[in-house]
This record gives sequence, structure tokens and C-alpha cells, in this order.
Amino acid sequence: MATINLMCVHCESEKVVKCSLHPDTGKQRYLCKECGRRFVNGYTWRANDPTIKALIISMSHNGSGTRDIERVLKVARQTVSNTFKKKPQK
Ligand SMILES: [Zn+2]
Repeated sequence: MATINLMCVHCESEKVVKCSLHPDTGKQRYLCKECGRRFVNGYTWRANDPTIKALIISMSHNGSGTRDIERVLKVARQTVSNTFKKKPQK
């Protein structure tokens, strides 16, 4: 039996279980037992990937503009501005 070591993309916990299939992409969704959030392993759209959001924040702190971030990370400009508008998660 093949095992994959998955970590929660939100809290990096290893207590994840299979949850359901994503309604649009049909990909396996996983549920984190630690923080209760769901995630997909290997996002279809880069904009949904939490690591991209973290990169957007980090690049903006280092002086990159919206258009720079759009070009480097290959996400839509709207994704970049939506990330800034969202409230920080606690
Ligand atoms: Zn988690």
C-alpha cells in the first residue's frame, strides 16, 4: 500500500484525513484534524494555493508592486488585490 505524507497547508499538522472530492475539479480533498480546514493536494488554480498567497504578502513587503507580483507568480492582478483586501486569518 502506498502512503503519502501530507501536511496541512494551513497549520502544517500531519493529522489529515481524506474528506471528499472537490465538486469542480474532482480532486481528493483532505480535512485537517488539527485546524478543521480542508485543502487539496496539488491545486489546479495557483491562486487557490495558500503558499502563493504567502508569497504575494512577502513580495509586497519587499517592495514589489501588484504588476510585478502578477508577472512573477503568474496569477491574475485581481488575485493579488483580493489577497490584500482579505482580513488576516487568526
Ligand atoms: Zn491544519
